Amino acid sequence: MKLLEDRIRSDGEVLPGNVLKINSFLNHQVDPELMKKVGEEFSHLFKDSGITKVLTCEASGIAPGVMTAYELHVPLVFARKKKPATLNDAVYWADVYSYTKKVTNQICVEQKFLHKDDCLLIIDDFLANGEAVKGMINIANQAGAQIAGVGIVVAKTFQGGSKWIKDHGYHLEALAEIASLANNQVHFVGEK
Ligand code: 5GP
Repeated sequence: MKLLEDRIRSDGEVLPGNVLKINSFLNHQVDPELMKKVGEEFSHLFKDSGITKVLTCEASGIAPGVMTAYELHVPLVFARKKKPATLNDAVYWADVYSYTKKVTNQICVEQKFLHKDDCLLIIDDFLANGEAVKGMINIANQAGAQIAGVGIVVAKTFQGGSKWIKDHGYHLEALAEIASLANNQVHFVGEK
């Protein structure tokens, strides 16, 4: 998605440890116009997949997730990273190792929001080693739901997540694919 690549080029900052900071339009401040375009693109890519719900993880998956769900006319369910005091009902849990924070968190989704007749589109902001996506797949499997595919705003293809998702037979779409962040430069897949 050229608009997204241009925005990464102009506003992105490469941090040590192969981390791309895009706090000005996705991870802190959010650009709703760009997120609307992201939602339209994912909706277009998965429009024939029979999706009944979008599943994402708080916090940064919510903006692209809700715009995608809006375009597909389905609900968004976001996994919580801490079980809120108000959440007393049965929940599905999964462990997720955080690439940026270097800690293992548990994510949870209330069981009543995912069913075995659901067909899910998993959305996330970044894909690195695939831990967050694996956690959401784990939760979808516990619910017995079908997974139509995985939509990622920014995939760092030089880390293991993209390969793992494709090797396991899931339909993966990434709107920006980064081949390398070497020398503090963003290099997109396919660019010379
Ligand atoms: P994974 O679980 O695939 O290893 O990492 C994906 C998660 O870690 C994303 O949900 C995102 O929150 C965070 N993450 C991984 N790499 C980056 C990055 O380069 N920049 C930012 N802002 N977040 C990242």
